[in-house]
Amino acid sequence: MDRQYDYLIVGAGLYGAVCAYELTQAGKKCLVIDKRNHIGGNVYTEEVEGINVHKYGAHIFHTSDKAIWNYVNQFAEFNNYINAPVARYKNELYNLPFNMNTFTKLWPDVFTPQDAMNRIAEERKQGYVEEPKNLQEQAINLVGKTIYEKLIKGYTEKQWGKSCEELPAFIIKRLPVRFTFDNNYFNDRYQGIPVGGYTKMIEKMLVEADIKLNYDYFAHKDELKNIADKIIYTGAIDQYFDYVYGALEYRSIRLETETLDMPNYQGNAVVNYTAKDVPFTRIIEHKHFEFGQQPKTIISKEFSSTWQVGDEPYYPVNNDKNNALYQKYKALAEKELNVIFGGRLGEYKYYDMHNVIKAALDRVQELIK
Ligand code: UDP
Repeated sequence: MDRQYDYLIVGAGLYGAVCAYELTQAGKKCLVIDKRNHIGGNVYTEEVEGINVHKYGAHIFHTSDKAIWNYVNQFAEFNNYINAPVARYKNELYNLPFNMNTFTKLWPDVFTPQDAMNRIAEERKQGYVEEPKNLQEQAINLVGKTIYEKLIKGYTEKQWGKSCEELPAFIIKRLPVRFTFDNNYFNDRYQGIPVGGYTKMIEKMLVEADIKLNYDYFAHKDELKNIADKIIYTGAIDQYFDYVYGALEYRSIRLETETLDMPNYQGNAVVNYTAKDVPFTRIIEHKHFEFGQQPKTIISKEFSSTWQVGDEPYYPVNNDKNNALYQKYKALAEKELNVIFGGRLGEYKYYDMHNVIKAALDRVQELIK
């Protein structure tokens, strides 16, 4: 087939959609393909009972980068949702992230920030290490043993399917620890959910591109070979190279979604279940992302699972072993001169949405300069 496009973009998720928007704005012809029957990748939302359901798990947009915030606001109006998850440990409920609300509930004799700091300093002594090498050591250094055992250990081990002693320390650094009564899960300046769902936002990014859904790159590789000058590939990098060095490790999740005939199930968008014996990690109640007043509600229980070839990959497992394997794939990728690898799966990176957008914008800048 003759060249019909400047770019073939494999994957209609956030990275692919931002590239498509910027490239088409610059006058490039783009074809975006996706093996799924919808656009949006894992940020896809679908309206059911008037509620925008986050089909691949909760996505909460947050950033401190004003340029990125202005950028996304071109495509959607963002509401004032602030993520403030609640953790359930056995029959106890705690506010997250770890803040004065959490500390005063955990320890009835803690009233002031100084009380909380003293208490945590005591708790840290049981297990403090100079240079934390894994998540357990990092967590105990940060908040001490009680919080680690009630709110971190079970949740993390369920989410990653590994013991906290085998997990990298950086994962826990995502969570703020604060000595104020502030339940905002993120420290970022800007936060919100696109009114009307993420799918509409992605649609606007893709307006000038041609789109083919239900169209798997690997099943149509021959047809696609000469269709475009360059390929932007946002799928899994190991799959692209047919797993020649073996498969990278991912975590997958399974969402069990139900519609309930009641207006309000849990009173919050996110409730984490931090005890090991509850099989799911969290329950999402979708309407609360948009302050919904519908008569019914939709909840999703999130179960974490080991990924196997053929499953939906969600989280890259960025430990030393996988990062080293990724470097080998990256070296192969650098030799594919007309292919750009990007996004969570293309770069094997535990990426937040704002960072995906930033990476895509930077990439396009290089491409069109
Ligand atoms: N985490 C935790 N307890 C919680 C919530 C999070 O220990 O109740 C830790 C856990 O190690 C997890 C990490 O924080 O892997 C990141 O969790 P988050 O829910 O922010 O991840 P997401 O899936 O939203 O990217």
